[in-house]
Order: sequence, then structure tokens, then C-alpha cells
Amino acid sequence: MAAIEMKNIVKQYGDGFPAVNDVSIDVADGEFMILVGPSGCGKSTLLRMIVGLEDITSGDMIIGGDRVNEKAPRDRNLAMVFQNYALYPHLTVYENIAFPLRLSKQHSDEEIDTKVREASRLLELDEHLDRKPGNLSGGQRQRVAMGRAIVRDAQAFLFDEPLSNLDAKLRGQMRTEISRLQRRLGITTVYVTHDQTEAMTLGDRVAVLKRGILQQLATPRELYDQP
Ligand code: ADP
Ligand code: ADP
Repeated sequence: MAAIEMKNIVKQYGDGFPAVNDVSIDVADGEFMILVGPSGCGKSTLLRMIVGLEDITSGDMIIGGDRVNEKAPRDRNLAMVFQNYALYPHLTVYENIAFPLRLSKQHSDEEIDTKVREASRLLELDEHLDRKPGNLSGGQRQRVAMGRAIVRDAQAFLFDEPLSNLDAKLRGQMRTEISRLQRRLGITTVYVTHDQTEAMTLGDRVAVLKRGILQQLATPRELYDQP
């Protein structure tokens, strides 16, 4: 069973050309799926429909076997990793990672502590738990943001152009880091970018969108090899 099934998804804003036009994509369990295309091709809109931040005009969104068309974001159990990381500057790394668990009020302090320490070991943040985001590198901040997603046992990570504000050098480092972590965690990932290099180096498969239409869905190798 696919982790995320998009079936004939349409998004129509007003009466123009649909922003997303009959797109069907299955994302396999543990797969790293890229949504790529030029500005305005509909990739962010599609991602927002997966998360539930945007209503679907027609089609079905199925996550972990459940149809979620009418479900609120909080009931979809997905983790959006935001471009600006959305970390709290006044909280330590530990408290930033613990934050979603404290918010849900369903966990004892002991459970929270276990989960935060597990996640920070995985992410190699254990030595930075008492620091504040302002004192961390870009890569470390990205890992804190992912830590927050991990402790929630999210079914998938969703990234919307997470590297687009970084300089070229840091972008390269972060790309390597995201790839390494995703493979280590084995968590299903959907990643939006307009950057060809990111698409070809990160993705298990790449979905190419143009004017809301799915043009191609292939592995990077298949895309390279094509005439
Ligand atoms: P991308 O992420 O590929 O740059 P978007 O998904 O943001 O593209 O946008 C796809 C199309 O939908 C664009 O033509 C954009 O102008 C339009 N669009 C996006 N959001 C809205 C909105 N809230 N209202 C009306 N049109 C929108
Ligand atoms: P509230 O319950 O007060 O509205 P939030 O708006 O912070 O709190 O979060 C609402 C729900 O959205 C959370 O319970 C959680 O499941 C989900 N959520 C929080 N952060 C994220 C995120 N980064 N990506 C996806 N879902 C999230």
C-alpha cells in the first residue's frame, strides 16, 4: 500500500486554468518523492493539499489508507518542515523538540524525555540540547525542525523549498544532510523544489509538473537517460 495516494487531484482557483490539473501520484512507504517544476506550476498547492492547508476541488487524497479529503491538518499526522524552520528562539533545542508533545498534553514528562533523547541521538543533537536556536548552524537548526517531526511519529515529512534561502555552499551541505537523515529514518518524504540539482540528487522519484499537469514521473536515472 502506498503511504500517500493522490488520485486525480484538481485544484481550481477562480475560473482560470486549474492550478493542479488531474494529478495522480502514489508515494511508496519510505520513498523520497520530489515535486519539481517552474514557479507557478502548482507544486506548493499540491503539497498544501497533502497537508490539508488547502481544500481539494476534486479527486481523493489517501494517507496511510485513509481518505483524508475532509480531515484537518492536525488529524493527518504529517510533519511539514518549514523553510524558516519555525523554531522558538527563546526555547532550548530540547524544549523546541519537546514542544509538540507538550502541546498535545498526552504524554508524561518521562515519555517526553525518552522521545526527545531518542530523536536527538538519531539526529546527533544530543550535545546541543541546552543551546538556543540562535547559536546553532543552519544544518543544526534544520535537524531540530526534523526532530520535532520525529517525536510526533509523523507518517511523512513534507518540505516546501527548504533550502531556497541559503547560499550555494550551505545549500549543498544541507542537501547531503537531508538525504542522509531521510535514508537513515526511512520516513516517507515529499519535497517541493524548483531546483533541478536538488530534484535529481535527492529524489527516489521525481514528479515533473508544468502548468498544473503531471508531465513525468520517473527515477532520476530514467530522467537522465531519456533522449
Ligand atoms: P508553485 O509552487 O509551483 O510556484 P503554486 O502552487 O504556488 O505554484 O501556484 C500554482 C498556480 O496557482 C499559480 O498560477 C498561482 O498563481 C495560483 N495560486 C496559488 N495560490 C493561489 C490562491 N490562493 N489564489 C489564487 N490563485 C492561486
Ligand atoms: P493548536 O492545536 O493549538 O491549533 P497547532 O496549530 O500548533 O496547535 O497545531 C495543531 C496541530 O497541527 C497539531 O496537533 C499537530 O498535529 C499539527 N501540526 C503542528 N505542527 C505541524 C507541522 N509542522 N506539520 C504538520 N502538522 C503540524
